[in-house]
Amino acid sequence: MLCARCKQRKPANATRQLCARCFTTVIEKAIIREYKQLGVHRRQIVLKKANSAEYHVLRHVLAKTFPYAKIKVGKQGMSALSLEDYAAAFINSFFFNKPSRLAESPLKSVMYSECCQYARIKGLKFPLEKQDEIREFLAAIEKRRKGSCFALLASIKASRKR
Ligand SMILES: [Zn+2]
Repeated sequence: MLCARCKQRKPANATRQLCARCFTTVIEKAIIREYKQLGVHRRQIVLKKANSAEYHVLRHVLAKTFPYAKIKVGKQGMSALSLEDYAAAFINSFFFNKPSRLAESPLKSVMYSECCQYARIKGLKFPLEKQDEIREFLAAIEKRRKGSCFALLASIKASRKR
């Protein structure tokens, strides 16, 4: 079984069936696609400071894609929230009636585990986070049925359009 994209190297990521090189390219494209959809400024990027794997990946990808942009980091700004953050917030509001307003994030179609893998491949320093209950639950579902988290994101996007 070879990488689904280049058909040359062995897959490094099981969910997407991609080799390490194609995996990082696909993750970068997914982030930039969501980033552009947010209609934000490309000359000045304002990020909300965090010390998560997601934050370090987002910052790295934006700096790489927009080399002339000025990156400002502070208490306000764009959040680095992954697919699991969106899915967890959706589950909380839908099933447990806990209202949650999630900030838009260019990382919403990328999983936390993929951020960690991207950071590892690119040699970025990232802290290992403690997972909360819902994130553990999502990781368990994803382990049993690959692609579950992506299917859930599609449902979330569809339910918001209504
Ligand atoms: Zn490949």
